Amino acid sequence: MINVELAVARGLSDEDIKAIEERHKFRDGRGVPADRWNLLRAWRANESELQKLWGFQPNPHYHKEFRIAGCTCPKEDNEQFVGTEYRYVSKICPFHGIEANAEVDTKDIK
Ligand SMILES: [Zn+2]
Repeated sequence: MINVELAVARGLSDEDIKAIEERHKFRDGRGVPADRWNLLRAWRANESELQKLWGFQPNPHYHKEFRIAGCTCPKEDNEQFVGTEYRYVSKICPFHGIEANAEVDTKDIK
């Protein structure tokens, strides 16, 4: 449960409170936010912007997406594949696993 007094003092809407509760569950490993696709989209855009700012062509093969909070894909193994199209994927990863892939097909994530 979130701090209700603080939520009232901050003027949070019911929607804000729901979003906060989802993120707490996510952080505690008890679920993933319904809007995790927005998080993933923002994360990818941020990676591409950083590549441009460093003077590189934006290239998703260099994205270290396995570092996003909540991703359960193997980190060290995937470091070796940076720069290629290959990645190790955890079946239960909320961003890259089986359920995620089924949803991504309908979410147009790129
Ligand atoms: Zn993952």
